This record gives sequence, structure tokens and C-alpha cells, in this order.
Amino acid sequence: MTNSQLTMYITLVTTSGVLSVFLFIYAYIRRAEMPGSRIYLLYTAAQAVYIFGFAFELASETMREVKFWTTVEYAGMPFAPVLGLLLVLRYTGRPVSGKAAAAMLVIPFLSFALVATNDWHHLFYKSVFFRETGPSSLVDIEAGQWYIVHGAYTFGCLLAGAVLLLRQWNRTNEAYRLQLTALIAGQFVPMIAAFLYLMNATPAGSDPVPIVMCFTSAMYIWAIISTRTFTIVPIAKERLFESMREGVLVLDASGRLVDYNAAVGRMIPALHASMIGRKLDEAWTQMTGEAFPIDLLADGTQDELTWAAKAEISYYQVRSSAVRLRNGERAGSLLMLIDVTEQKRMQRQLEQQAYYDGLTGIFNRAQLLHRSKKMLDEARSRNEPVSFILFDIDRFKRVNDTYGHDTGDRLIVHVVSVCRQHLPHGALFARYGGEEFVIVLPNAALEDAGALAERIRTALEAAPMPTTGGPLAVTASFGAAAALSATGGGDSLESVLRDADAALYESKRNGRNKVSLHRRG
Ligand code: GH3
Ligand code: MG
Ligand code: MG
Repeated sequence: MTNSQLTMYITLVTTSGVLSVFLFIYAYIRRAEMPGSRIYLLYTAAQAVYIFGFAFELASETMREVKFWTTVEYAGMPFAPVLGLLLVLRYTGRPVSGKAAAAMLVIPFLSFALVATNDWHHLFYKSVFFRETGPSSLVDIEAGQWYIVHGAYTFGCLLAGAVLLLRQWNRTNEAYRLQLTALIAGQFVPMIAAFLYLMNATPAGSDPVPIVMCFTSAMYIWAIISTRTFTIVPIAKERLFESMREGVLVLDASGRLVDYNAAVGRMIPALHASMIGRKLDEAWTQMTGEAFPIDLLADGTQDELTWAAKAEISYYQVRSSAVRLRNGERAGSLLMLIDVTEQKRMQRQLEQQAYYDGLTGIFNRAQLLHRSKKMLDEARSRNEPVSFILFDIDRFKRVNDTYGHDTGDRLIVHVVSVCRQHLPHGALFARYGGEEFVIVLPNAALEDAGALAERIRTALEAAPMPTTGGPLAVTASFGAAAALSATGGGDSLESVLRDADAALYESKRNGRNKVSLHRRG
């Protein structure tokens, strides 16, 4: 190797070392969002030690210096492939216990110890010598027994890592195949480089491994940072995840979308794979114009999500739960979307049946009593009068007897629809009994109620119901009473209804199709 070749080589190696240090710093800064960051930090540290040791070894001029820097190199190099394998194990869902990890590091420790003490036993290197004489000569060695053990173990670790990753291929979501490819390449690159070196196929007999190692680190960190799913969803469960009927969204600890299953894709067609890696609440706001309904980072929260996909509205219950690693560290959260559209529809239907009259669609008697009581309470606190109109269709039995029950029913519906056209805003309208109705008017005096009753009475009179046999005339008798007013009667719901009923009776007695007001005294 010429002097300038050596300088260039040292520069390349040093650049790789500096990159490793940068990766270490980067990983340290982002350690909170990188599960397993400790292994990665050790891994890059080991590489940096190795690469810089190697650079100084290259620059060494005496055998003493060479031996010293080789020892430094071995404080890093044998550990890197083992740490790399530990990383792969962790990210493929097979975390290794502390004891097992320590056992895996025994051989690297021995390698380091044997290199440091090689002069006494020559178990690692039989001999170390400069290839040629002169300052720009590379060092060559004659391998000892342990050198073989170390080499085989290093290759073994790299190969095992590669095999483990290759086996994940089919079980990995397509969105993460690129990251998986990078990790696999990260295993093969140093192996290929070492192989070329052993075959003497590298320029001027230089060792390319220290130069390519920083690529492996870079691929690792990119894959880890962008593929947090490795630690959050055990990949072996991918199938189950995909075939679930419930939608599942996986978020990392900072609320970024990591993964989602096919069910979510069907529930929310607007969700796209390109949103992976983005903060879900931001992506959601952009997609729907609304904030995501639940706090994504809180544990065990639950809320409802309304989503209008296609023509109909769907309702989803959203439950969030924290996902923790074995050591309790929070890795992210899982959002479960459960389709409750059918339940919601049933609930609506039950509410409808409980609150409204089936024939006319207006409030039923129970709701009238409940709501008017509340209106009275509110009016009392505001010191305002409330008026009630009670009315009953005249001679209704005759309609039933002459035209049949069905026509009777239609006439009830007809009366309600005529009446509705005259109701002021805020009025409560309910079916009180068979063909008896109540209108409650908040903040209305007795005279207002009388005037409204009169309008409805004339409207009914003027609007006979069309039937096949010609128009069917209909009239009703009205009674009005006021509560909480100087001119009204009793102030309880029961007494005001009784008063209105008395007024209605008076209208009936006076010949029907009349309005009577109940006056106090
Ligand atoms: P009046 O002028 O004195 O009120 O005479 P009326 O015939 O209307 O007498 P009343 O109010 O006592 O009669 C109510 C009748 O309405 C009794 C019942 O058969 C009939 N009815 C009650 N509910 C319904 C209903 O939902 N549909 C039909 N078709 N008839 C009903
Ligand atoms: Mg009646
Ligand atoms: Mg009647």
C-alpha cells in the first residue's frame, strides 16, 4: 500500500468511526422512543471503539503501538456482532434475559482478554508482523486457535441474526418489509466484506469491515426508529391482528400511528398506509376536520366515534389501552374500534318507543308529565307563567262507529298535523289519551293560550280530512288553564291539568267546538 493509499484508507475508517459516534449520540437523544435503546447504544459504542482502535492501529509505526491499539480494537469488535444479535432477538419478539445475554458475551470477553495477553500464550495470534517494511505497511497476522473460535462465533452471530430476520419475512406487514430488508442487509454487509477480505479481493489488502460497519448501525437505527411495531405487536400474532373483526390501531409512545389492521381499513377507508409514522391526532384532524375523540395517550379511556363513510353513518366505540413491554416500560397504545352501529340503532328505536306515541309521533303521556313538570320547575325559578291547553276531538266515537277504527286513527293523525302547524317555538305537544291532547306553552299567559286554542279550533274546523267518501269534518273542544299566573289556578301540574280539564268539560257542555278558559276564583 502506498502512503497516499494508506492515508485514504485511514480517512475512510475514521469517517466510519465518526459516523458511529453520531449514531450513538442520535440514539441517545431519541432513546425514549426507542425500545431497546440500551442495547443499541452499547452496540454503537462497541463499534466506535473497534473502528477507532483500528484506525490508530493503521497509523501505528511500532509493533508496541500496533499491539496496544489491537487490544483497544478488541475491546469493541467481538462484542458488536453479539449485541447486534441481541437487537435482532429483541426486535423479532424474542427478548433475551440478562443471564442469557451475559452468557452470549463470554466468548467476546475471552477474545478481548486473550488479545490483551497474547504475548504470553499466543493463543489468539501465533505471530503479528508488518507485511512489508516501511511506514505504510499493513500488519499481518498468523491466526492462533482462539482466533478461529472468535471468527466462527462472529460469523455465527451475524448469520443467526440474518436467519432470524429472514424468517420474519412472511409474518411482517408489507409496510415494514423495507425496514426488514435493511436489517437483513445490515447482517450480510459485514459478512460479505469480511469474506472479500479473507479472499484477498479488497484493494491493497485492506480490511473493509470497519468501513462498512457504520452502514449496519445506520440501517439498524433507521429500521428501529421507523418500525416500532416490532416491539409493540408481536409479529407472530400478525394473522390474528389482521383477521380481527374489531378495528385496531397501534400507536407508539408519542401517539404516532405505527400499524393498523384490515378491519380499520374497512371502517375508515380514508385511512391510508402513508399515514403510518404520523401523529394520529394530527392526521385525524386533517382527514376529518375534527379532533380525535379520545386522549390518545391516556390509559383505559373510552369514547364514541361517529364516522360517515359511504351514505350511512357508522358508530364506533373507541377504547384505548396502554401497551407495555415486559419490564413495564410503555411502548405505545392500542386503540380498539368496535362497531356499535346496530346497538345504536336499537337504542334509538327503544328511545323512540319510550318517548313518543306510536300513531302520531308526538310525545306520549309519560313524557308529557315528565317534561311539563320540568317546564313548571324552570318557570317557577324564572317567575314566569306556563299555560296548558287540553283538547278532545268531538264526537269521535261516531267516527269510529261510522267509518271504522282505521279512519278514526287517520283522523287522529290529521288533527295532530293540523295542530302542529300552529304551535309556537318551545311548545310541548303530547297525546294525553285516546283522542285527547295537551299543549304546554312556556312563558305564556292564559289569554295567549286561549288565543292559540282559538286559532287551532278554527283551523281544524276549516280543514276536514279528505277521505275516499269525501271530506270528513272534524272539530275539537278546548280547555285552557295557566299555572304560576295571577289569572290562573293551582300551580302544581296536577291542579293545572285538572283546571284545563274542567274548562274542556265546559266547552263540551256548551255545545262543543269551543274554547273555554279556566279563571281563578
Ligand atoms: P266527546 O265529544 O264527548 O268527546 O265524544 P267522543 O265520542 O269523542 O267521546 P270520548 O272522548 O269519550 O270517546 C273517545 C273514543 O275514542 C273512545 C275510543 O273508542 C276512541 N279511541 C280512543 N283511542 C283511539 C285510537 O287510538 N284510535 C281510534 N280509532 N279510536 C280511539
Ligand atoms: Mg275523549
Ligand atoms: Mg272526544
